[in-house]
Amino acid sequence: MKIDPDLTLQILEKVGIYSNRFSILEPKILFVTKDVLNMPREMTEGCRTSAYKYYGVSYLQHNLVFINIRKIPDEKTLENTIVHELIHMRFPYLAHGKRFNKLVRQGLGGKTFLPYKKRK
Ligand SMILES: [Zn+2]
Repeated sequence: MKIDPDLTLQILEKVGIYSNRFSILEPKILFVTKDVLNMPREMTEGCRTSAYKYYGVSYLQHNLVFINIRKIPDEKTLENTIVHELIHMRFPYLAHGKRFNKLVRQGLGGKTFLPYKKRK
């Protein structure tokens, strides 16, 4: 998709809405790979120069998310990517898989989640 101020604002609004529903602190959002590379190295460790390959990347430790607008083909994929990354934030222990995908579907469907509590 083409980056423009309207679209980035729309994305930030969606991130705000879903962050509320998922009871997470609203992450900082990066929109272009250049922003990823401009972040301190320790914040984007593990996925810097490879970030361009993905629709989205979550940097869980730093509450930071990259939404790769230029790579995302359409609105539906965009919404999916936003929810996918925010589900990572809410369920940091969960790897990709059936359960993860189910949570993404529920999130897209408007489900709310209570705050994440670390188990002792
Ligand atoms: Zn993921």
